[in-house]
Amino acid sequence: MLKGIKLKIYPNARQKQQLAWMFGNDRFVWNEMLNLINQRYKNNPSLKVLSAYDMNYLLKPLKQEYDFLKESDSSSLQVVTNNLYQAWLMFFKKKHGRPKFHSRKAYKQSYTGKSATIKVANARYMKIPKLGIVKTSKTNLLNDCKIKRYTVEHSPNGNYYLSLQVEFENQKLNKTGKVVGIDLGVHDLAITSDGVKYSKLQFKNLDKKARLWQRKYNKRLHNVKNIVATHNHDKSRLYDIEVEDFTNWQKARKNKAKLQAKITNKRNDELHKITTKLVKQYDVIVIENLKSKNMMKNHNLANVVSSNAWYTFKSMLEYKCNWYGKQLVIVDPKNTSRICSDCGKKNHEFDGLTQAQWLSTRNWTCPYCHKNHDRDINASLNILNRGLKQLNIQ
Ligand SMILES: [Zn+2]
Repeated sequence: MLKGIKLKIYPNARQKQQLAWMFGNDRFVWNEMLNLINQRYKNNPSLKVLSAYDMNYLLKPLKQEYDFLKESDSSSLQVVTNNLYQAWLMFFKKKHGRPKFHSRKAYKQSYTGKSATIKVANARYMKIPKLGIVKTSKTNLLNDCKIKRYTVEHSPNGNYYLSLQVEFENQKLNKTGKVVGIDLGVHDLAITSDGVKYSKLQFKNLDKKARLWQRKYNKRLHNVKNIVATHNHDKSRLYDIEVEDFTNWQKARKNKAKLQAKITNKRNDELHKITTKLVKQYDVIVIENLKSKNMMKNHNLANVVSSNAWYTFKSMLEYKCNWYGKQLVIVDPKNTSRICSDCGKKNHEFDGLTQAQWLSTRNWTCPYCHKNHDRDINASLNILNRGLKQLNIQ
């Protein structure tokens, strides 16, 4: 099954220059081939029009003659010859006018390629043939698929876009008839109403290294700023210096960024495994609305990391349910941890607790029906019940 995905991309100055060449090369190849076909027809009207295959064969000598064609993704030139051949077929079927030359001014700035080497390089970075690594958005959409075709476009609004035609395998998963509620926890990443706990994703060694380089970076940058300020303040100086003249803090920044990217990749791999498993296992998945979930007041690092993981977890569930024919239901999280999932009453014993006391309450007994609850499993059961109510199943 094929789907179209459009991403915004952010090429750097060199890549923009390269793209301008590539757009121009597509137009050049179209015009050269069209000219050749027209000439052949003039010389001998009984000759058959060149097929895409014939034209692809001619691309080789053309590239030798015009060196700049080597700047292009070669699969894009084959897309051009194929398009030109299709245009002739349409003309012969009288469905379309005779193929025309593409003018520099009127023709759109884009090219389409088919090379299999295009891929996700890193979260939010694509590796595009001939261009290298290009910054983009939302690469997580591309995890379980194969890219068949891609078009890079410089839109008249000034933005650059990458449109992908991608193929997904196993589109619809089998129905299992099962439903689940999931609580996103503080102690664990996620807890299901079936009592399964997915522990928090931790990469202790990498985290330690990343924090170390973060500290080195802060310290080195701070020192360099002091040196620069002192130097540039000195009236006897011969010239000004800049922070960019020093490389050791830049090295620390690179190391820090590399380690952080590694952690993100590892974390996303784990989240992919968990969300794929859940979507396979259940037909309906109910989770809380993260926007109104009471995020911890103290914004320490651990909490930021876990809320980032929650958002990624939710977005993966969203698109996987969509792709695989399952349903994701989002419910209001209010009091899901404080209501007894058995009798439905709110436990007011928690009302006066501090945040820390409340978070450390792992088990409790309902004062009304005396049922003993694991805090998180109880919450996920409440989430499930709310979801089913919303769907009018219960
Ligand atoms: Zn109860």
